[in-house]
Amino acid sequence: MNQSNVVKAPQDSGVPEWARDFSVRDRVVLITGAGQGIGRELARQFAAAGAVPVVADLNLENARNVVAEIEARAGKAMAIKVDVGDPASIQRMVDAVVAEHGRIDVLINNAGIFASLGKRKFELIPQEEWDLVMRVNINGVMVCARAVAPVMRKHGWGRIINIASDAVPKGVMNYLHYVTSKSALIGMTNAMARELGEDGINVNCIRPGAVATEVERAVNPTVDLRKTQIAQQCIKRGMEPPDLVGVMMFLSSPASSFITGQTIACDGGYTHSS
Ligand code: NAD
Repeated sequence: MNQSNVVKAPQDSGVPEWARDFSVRDRVVLITGAGQGIGRELARQFAAAGAVPVVADLNLENARNVVAEIEARAGKAMAIKVDVGDPASIQRMVDAVVAEHGRIDVLINNAGIFASLGKRKFELIPQEEWDLVMRVNINGVMVCARAVAPVMRKHGWGRIINIASDAVPKGVMNYLHYVTSKSALIGMTNAMARELGEDGINVNCIRPGAVATEVERAVNPTVDLRKTQIAQQCIKRGMEPPDLVGVMMFLSSPASSFITGQTIACDGGYTHSS
């Protein structure tokens, strides 16, 4: 056989270790709003993969319950109370995590005002409700990133993952505060990635479809709406929290080192790329 025609396996051709490293083992992963729903599932799955999730939530009891679930399966996790609408509370959270673990490798900005939010015409949204959604869903994300960035910079490695929504491309009616807040995260991701790239910190955003969680919502989609949603997806089934786990772990791992400033749709093909 002519040796020059032999295709070399990646491990023989000088591909660096990180390019094939999809592991999140031992990573300290700070997940806001992880007391229930999507964040809870992410915390459980990251722990199962050997990471140490920090379950941060406004509802400390829920956060503690998630940690108890993880520890019952021999995983490691830490519960902490935070109000991402309050910069001082965010700083206390980051200081406590650093005191306990010495670093933060991944920040998943998952906390948001979502399940409790009702729909109404934008002209009828009370100003206080609008302001609260902006403070938590937009400011909270920026302030968490601002508090965590120096910790990541010190270690020359970090991942920040924001969570937008397919409500942005859909332009969901009677949900203007929510849609506006999630739109902002896409632009924030684009711009923040440019500022943190040289520090080894990648910033990306996930845009999930409608995810059925264990949580009752103020506005639950009707059976008909769910059927319409599924009919328009390429993949013909409803979305569940585990559907987000793979892409979250990939973006948290060394394998995604050259991916930053991106918004990735994870919605069964309901929408195509942004
Ligand atoms: P959820 O409403 O069930 O959970 C949100 C969590 O955030 C709760 O545990 C809540 O206590 C916490 N939280 C709220 N305000 C907070 C604050 N000020 N400080 C700290 N924690 C706070 O939502 P979910 O369905 O699990 O969604 C999680 C994220 O994904 C949200 O950002 C949501 O907008 C987004 N998202 C959800 C869906 C979906 O269909 N479930 C789709 C697209 C995007």
